[in-house]
Amino acid sequence: MEKIVHAGLLGMGTVGTGVVKILAKNAHDILQKVGMPVNIKKIMVRQLDKPRNVDSNAEFTTNIDDIINDKDIDIVVELMGGIEPAKDYILQALRAGKHVITANKDVVAKCGQEILQVAEENKVDFLFEASVAGGIPIIRPLKQCLAANKISEVVGIINGTTNYMLTKMTNEGLDFDSVLAEAQAKGYAEADPTADVGGLDAARKIAILASIAFGSRVSVDDVYVEGITNISKADIGYAKELGYVIKLLAIAKDDERGIDVRVHPAFIPSSHPLASVHDVFNAIYIKGDAVGETMFYGRGAGEMPTASAVVADIIDVARNIKHNANSRILCTCFEEKSFCPVEQTESPYYIRLLVEDKPGVLAAIAGAFGAQLVSLHSVIQKSKVANCSELVLITNQVADASLRLAINTLAGLSVVNKVCNVIRVEADNFG
Ligand code: NAP
Repeated sequence: MEKIVHAGLLGMGTVGTGVVKILAKNAHDILQKVGMPVNIKKIMVRQLDKPRNVDSNAEFTTNIDDIINDKDIDIVVELMGGIEPAKDYILQALRAGKHVITANKDVVAKCGQEILQVAEENKVDFLFEASVAGGIPIIRPLKQCLAANKISEVVGIINGTTNYMLTKMTNEGLDFDSVLAEAQAKGYAEADPTADVGGLDAARKIAILASIAFGSRVSVDDVYVEGITNISKADIGYAKELGYVIKLLAIAKDDERGIDVRVHPAFIPSSHPLASVHDVFNAIYIKGDAVGETMFYGRGAGEMPTASAVVADIIDVARNIKHNANSRILCTCFEEKSFCPVEQTESPYYIRLLVEDKPGVLAAIAGAFGAQLVSLHSVIQKSKVANCSELVLITNQVADASLRLAINTLAGLSVVNKVCNVIRVEADNFG
């Protein structure tokens, strides 16, 4: 009898629904590509009586044992989200000899090493293409297509919610709170937006990408994180005036100082390709020693784009099953590289201050910077705000530690009323 590849889905929400749709719509093409039919045999959900957006012939269950103990099921596709019970179910499936696919960045970023180890012990596949940047191919390109390279840099816009918000603030001059409310109304931001606007979502994703790019384990705790909650209409306006845009960047670099991995808002030149990544779109720039610069662009979330990546993983595993070639590419962290502390990273900085409107202020400020050997590239004195003057400074390249000391001194000066914002300028840091 002809072999059928059977999958069991854990979850049929946004992404699960897309997976069911694609496997039905493109069944003929997928059969051609794999050489065997791919069928969803069972689907586990929380509520059996919940209305679903797509019909499926699969058997629905609320019991994980129905999937783990089903000998016909070759592939378990985890689309529930969160750490537990997702991690437990993934490990159970791997130990039962099933291949596992997930779109869950939380579980991959936190438990990837342990899961890959269990996959290896059980000689099965564990694929997670959809866990970073939804529909954009990025895990497979890093693990396979760019495998010939020593990768030195990965810089991405990998959180759609914050990119949507910053785009709106830039194009429409809106403030943070009203843009957040609009993003929530449109379903682009969650009711609790903390992980997105605080940078944690992007930190989880860059930890995954950096681990693969540099062949050395990077956990979320290794990522320096700043979100976009402090970005104001004024900062966006000054960025524009100076020829930049503000983006929430996820940055990973590997050089002689060690692995430098961080998520923070940054000024980038408006001519840089990442500056034209708008709305919920994502993009990832990668620099390799052989390929040079490459960039991947597309939809980082949503039902069909994310399901596109999940189904591609299903096809990959099914092909491996057909050719008895599973477990070929698992953990690619072969080294234990050291990290470059954020204090040692260097860049120019944008600083916005409210200062007293009187003679001698500029000299006092220049003195505070000079004491930490921070040189200023430009100083722009803006119009009065209440009884103060607004001052915008751009420094030359400076170590983060020196900049922090200078800012502390500055904040203590009697002529400085407020340090409104400090944002890195990633001007020369691409290519
Ligand atoms: P979702 O719409 O909330 O769907 C979750 C599904 O999992 C639901 O069908 C739910 O059952 C089921 N489920 C949750 N906990 C369960 C449990 N303990 N036992 C049984 N079933 C359970 O989530 P989603 O947006 O599809 O996201 C799924 C995964 O993909 C997450 O890891 C997410 O981070 C990732 N991802 C999503 C996107 C996106 O655009 N949505 C993009 C990239 C990655 P019920 O239907 O019965 O409630």
